[in-house]
Amino acid sequence: MPDTSLPTGHAAALAAIREALGPAGIVDAPEEMAPYCRSWRDDIHGRVPLVARPASTDEVARVVALCAEAGIAIVPQGGNTGLTGAGQPHDDASEIILSLGRMNRIRDVDPLNDTMTVEAGCVLQTIQEAALKADRLFPLSLAAEGSCQIGGNLSTNAGGIHVVRYGSAKGLVLGLEVVLADGRVWHGLKGLRKDNAGYDLKQLFLGTEGTLGVITAAVLKLYPRPTDRATAFLAVEDPAAALTMLARAKAAFGEAVTAFELIQRRGVELAAAKLDGVSDPLKDPHPWYVLMELTGQSAPGTLNQGLEAYLADAFEAGVVADATIAMSDAHADRLWHMREGLAEAQNTDGVSIKHDVSVPVSSIPEFLARANGTLLEAYPTIRLLAFGHVGDGNLHYNPAQPLDWEADAYRAERPRINRIVHDIVVDLGGSISAEHGIGILRKAELAHYADPVALDLMAKVKHALDPHDLLNPGKVFDLSAP
Ligand SMILES: Cc1cc2nc3c(=O)[nH]c(=O)nc-3n(C[C@H](O)[C@H](O)[C@H](O)COP(=O)(O)OP(=O)(O)OC[C@H]3O[C@@H](n4cnc5c(N)ncnc54)[C@H](O)[C@@H]3O)c2cc1C
Repeated sequence: MPDTSLPTGHAAALAAIREALGPAGIVDAPEEMAPYCRSWRDDIHGRVPLVARPASTDEVARVVALCAEAGIAIVPQGGNTGLTGAGQPHDDASEIILSLGRMNRIRDVDPLNDTMTVEAGCVLQTIQEAALKADRLFPLSLAAEGSCQIGGNLSTNAGGIHVVRYGSAKGLVLGLEVVLADGRVWHGLKGLRKDNAGYDLKQLFLGTEGTLGVITAAVLKLYPRPTDRATAFLAVEDPAAALTMLARAKAAFGEAVTAFELIQRRGVELAAAKLDGVSDPLKDPHPWYVLMELTGQSAPGTLNQGLEAYLADAFEAGVVADATIAMSDAHADRLWHMREGLAEAQNTDGVSIKHDVSVPVSSIPEFLARANGTLLEAYPTIRLLAFGHVGDGNLHYNPAQPLDWEADAYRAERPRINRIVHDIVVDLGGSISAEHGIGILRKAELAHYADPVALDLMAKVKHALDPHDLLNPGKVFDLSAP
């Protein structure tokens, strides 16, 4: 199919890409390209002349080299579950999408080194399952794990529910293989826990949202497979009580605290109303809840006993109002289904203005009090919703459209609401993006809040690695002359 919308040089390069990848590596029918061009929330859309789907590192390198020669920009894409528009092309059809989904081989599992070498297009859940098969754990876990890919996870430095114990994606990588903007391959696939021979170059590509290179493979860290698991859902009066429970959990169980999530009452109501198989886990309503999980190497049932004692103490101290302990894996999975379905449930609950913020864990109650108070004063009928990874100081703070407002009128308030929320975050020493990244959605906010020296350093790194701004241009920040 001729690419009539493109400059002549581009058309020739696209023809060469078609030839290099063959029909299995090209998607160009408009209806087949559509899912690659729209965001998971269906709020950001772009256009491309084709989607390239290479099946090997050599093919990625070939596509990137052809694009570099012709000056065609590339949007790397994994599972397209990102929440900031970082994986969407612009709408002028000047870029191509480079989808890594066919690079989905697990190249090696080394149980004695506790490592696994995987290609960028491996779906996260497939990696978790392969680790379990080797009697190991790959601990990265997020609600999108059935479709997000490890290349996307590493490029966004994904967080998820286990950061409180294992850290974010960045900390789970030992080595990378990366195709650079000029088409050269950096072979950094080392499985070493100690390696101080020069700069730690992999850090350049972790969390940089496809703007500095295309990750094609990674060496991941594996952990012992837990033998014991305990899950509880607790009701507390306020976020301060949730933090007391977090501190008590760390004191009682140490590293076994694997997840610690805060959910506002409205989140439970929303999940029960919108998600199949979800009902309120407790008899009476309470303003806030914690979903917590312990895992470890103890004999099965040991952590459950510990959890019972921990909750009994907390009841006696008046910190917890009610609680349920999961009595089976299925029960625990149901509780997690409620928490993990919240993003999806919100998609059908009117416009919500999303914030993915972090503050020091100790500042969570102050953040919520100030943000809720200011927003309610400005918009008395706004529907507040906060939930998230409170053990990491990370909240998804998503005030939703008042029922008496039109969607467009509420959307128009986005800049003002962002400013209210982010001013408080920054005042508390926090971050305007805890785990989702910047992409397009938070680019203006980053430009407003970031240290100018940091922005200058970022621009210098970008110039050094991608001088013609061909890798995911216009994402994270706009490149200007250094
Ligand atoms: C229901 C739901 C729940 C979520 N929960 C969480 C959560 O708890 N924690 C969290 O951190 N995120 C969460 N996310 C966001 C999202 O899943 C993560 O950002 C994930 O890491 C993105 O992976 P992906 O493969 O979908 O990447 P994509 O969306 O395809 O791409 C994301 C970014 O990475 C770049 N990229 C992708 N692959 C490569 C590559 N191989 N080389 C270079 N750049 C690349 C893209 O250009 C883009 O900038 C959630 C999303 C959904 C829909």
